[in-house]
Amino acid sequence: MSTLDRLKNAAGPKGFSEDAAEIAPHLVEWRGKYKGHTPLLLKPQTTAEVSAILAICHETHTAIVPQGGNTGLVGGQIPLDGEILLSLSRMNRIRSIEPGALICEAGTILADAQRAADAAERYFPLSLAPEGSCTIGGNLSTNAGGVNVLRYGNARDLVLGLEVVLADGRVLDMLRTLRKDNTGYDLKQMFIGAEGTLGVITAAALKLFARPQARETAFVAMRDPAAAVELLARLQAATGGLVSAFELMPRIGLELVLAHIPQTADPLATPSPWYALVEATSGAAMPLRETLETELARTIGDGLATDATLAGSDARQAALWRLRESMSEAQKHEGASIKHDVSVPIRAIPEFLKQGMALVETIVPGARPVPFGHLGDGNIHFNISVPKGGNNEAFLARWEDMSRAVHDLVHHFGGSISAEHGIGVMKRDDLPLYKSAAEMDVMRALKKTMDPHGILNPGKILIPSP
Ligand SMILES: Cc1cc2nc3c(=O)[nH]c(=O)nc-3n(C[C@H](O)[C@H](O)[C@H](O)COP(=O)(O)OP(=O)(O)OC[C@H]3O[C@@H](n4cnc5c(N)ncnc54)[C@H](O)[C@@H]3O)c2cc1C
Repeated sequence: MSTLDRLKNAAGPKGFSEDAAEIAPHLVEWRGKYKGHTPLLLKPQTTAEVSAILAICHETHTAIVPQGGNTGLVGGQIPLDGEILLSLSRMNRIRSIEPGALICEAGTILADAQRAADAAERYFPLSLAPEGSCTIGGNLSTNAGGVNVLRYGNARDLVLGLEVVLADGRVLDMLRTLRKDNTGYDLKQMFIGAEGTLGVITAAALKLFARPQARETAFVAMRDPAAAVELLARLQAATGGLVSAFELMPRIGLELVLAHIPQTADPLATPSPWYALVEATSGAAMPLRETLETELARTIGDGLATDATLAGSDARQAALWRLRESMSEAQKHEGASIKHDVSVPIRAIPEFLKQGMALVETIVPGARPVPFGHLGDGNIHFNISVPKGGNNEAFLARWEDMSRAVHDLVHHFGGSISAEHGIGVMKRDDLPLYKSAAEMDVMRALKKTMDPHGILNPGKILIPSP
């Protein structure tokens, strides 16, 4: 029997597709930057099926690419060399829920996990714009960040246990919900952020928190990013560390949203060069609105902020968040953009932005930097839009030059070239430039040990060994 037939048998009658129309959406990523091809889409429904599939791939040296919601931004989920595509989308059951933990399968959509927690009067804080389509397996494999990292940490901080299928098909059952477990190496962490190169995550035990009883959102105007850094420190002090999101936005970003995204409006009367979207939450009922109001009035009085508005209602909160979450989408409508997902120490953000924006101008005069994102985590999406009226293709042809210069600057500030999206293929070749030789050696050794035949998502994160 051919390998493809064996794989189809292992996945069961409803567990595969060779239909070009069904496969097509899985082969291209959100921005259309990476396009792949595959002879077979596998859609297993159980861990045992994933195990059988990987055992065959291991035995026959057949390469396979795991895919969740296909919202990844570095090409990691795309079968670029005709690999088998393994979609976890049918593995979407919530297995159990208790006050401290939610156990769900890897293909569970993030928003469904959030809803399940909410129905049990608990809270799962991971939150990112594509939460209606990205999956828990993808979130963990990319160690996703999102808007609540400041308060609750990255995806890796929200995991108590994992179930993983190894490259050779063996199942690592680590679905424990223990808060303390120091029995040797913490193996689950090895698979988090590994982008499907070390094993396939099939289920996870996620940490649940008290459901927020108080939440307030503010939209604050300020002259520059240095004021934003200071404002964050002031608001954290005033709320006792209850700020859960602190998002920086430049005026140009807001203008793109207002121009391209329906049902959006400028929350403030007078334009300002920079804004912060701030959210504070508390698991206990408390007067957060009053606390923010008092502190924001004080910062305006001190000249740190120039204007501010508080949401006050759920609808207004959603409208403010829509401005922030639509920023990538709005940039898409404006033409091509070159994107960088970077982090630097928070204190270095103002100087990094100043130097970075000047640098962009020297590489492509007229290019429009639209840097925005999770300032509270030191994470800026340093995106650059094509010059007004400029040629998209010509602009994108400068991606490599632009990225090298921006990444060198990030490195100079002691930062990271991938704050939350991962490496995939997009940053793979740059990785050795910014990690030490020893770190690269350990990563390669790990890959060799965990996946000796190099079948799991080959060519992602690391250049495959010959
Ligand atoms: C508009 C937009 C906004 C975004 N904002 C954010 C943001 O704020 N923060 C952030 O961190 N990311 C963000 N992302 C990126 C993306 O949503 C995340 O990386 C997300 O975690 C990917 O989940 P997914 O299910 O779509 O995974 P996929 O895209 O399908 O896969 C991502 C990677 O994980 C691997 N993988 C998927 N499932 C498994 C599994 N079960 N086992 C092993 N490997 C697996 C894939 O092989 C691939 O390498 C954004 C993306 C978009 C389009």
